[in-house]
Amino acid sequence: MAHARVLDASGRELSPCSQAKALRLVSQGKATLLSEEPLTIRLLRAIPLVETPREAPPLQGKRLLLHICCAPCATYTTRRLREQGAQVTGYWYNPNIHPFSEHERRREALVTYAPTIELPMIWEAAYEMPEFLRRVAGRERFRQRCALCYRMRLERTAQVAASEGFELFTTTLLISPYQDQKLICEIGEGLAQDYGVSFYFENLRRGFAEHHRLAREAGLYQQRYCGCIYSEWEAQDRAAATNPRPV
Ligand code: SF4
Repeated sequence: MAHARVLDASGRELSPCSQAKALRLVSQGKATLLSEEPLTIRLLRAIPLVETPREAPPLQGKRLLLHICCAPCATYTTRRLREQGAQVTGYWYNPNIHPFSEHERRREALVTYAPTIELPMIWEAAYEMPEFLRRVAGRERFRQRCALCYRMRLERTAQVAASEGFELFTTTLLISPYQDQKLICEIGEGLAQDYGVSFYFENLRRGFAEHHRLAREAGLYQQRYCGCIYSEWEAQDRAAATNPRPV
């Protein structure tokens, strides 16, 4: 069927209609003929725009405390949580990171980065490495120690979230495919019950590649191992196994 272009009285293009209908509107005095080829009519009245109401993002206006393990992981995660409507505050507490110089390097990267994305921060001043090592002593196996590590960091985050009046807490650890997301979630949910602040879970791993891009773009320091002395040793060991040094 041949169609006609239709404009409203203000000249805004509307959906086309059949040529027969366009000519009928002209003959009824409801439109004027603008051109025959292509057939174009202008209605005598303006058609108001119909606004479709946008759904509010799920975390609209909620105050969320985000535990941050390092600046690169904060890039995509902060952006994503803000897109979800959250008012994000970052929280630094990583007593697992070893040695102290590495802890400071990662902390300083975040000190520099946070203001560039206008991210308010709460900094845990103490370096509680001795307590971390006490907790994992005798339970140093990968995953076993990680469960203790997640708990230590998330528990402090939940405590601070509760005392500072946040509605939600979560962690940048959820972005890494090297972390046990299910376990983080279980621990987070349990702490949410204990401290009366909701744990926010989202599979942030879909942003893993993007977080690398954002970190490179911002020129952030990117570490080569997870954090604890065991993970440093394992990373070196793996490197040595794939790339043995000449004797
Ligand atoms: S490997 Fe990473 S998550 Fe596991 S204990 Fe070490 S620092 Fe913590």
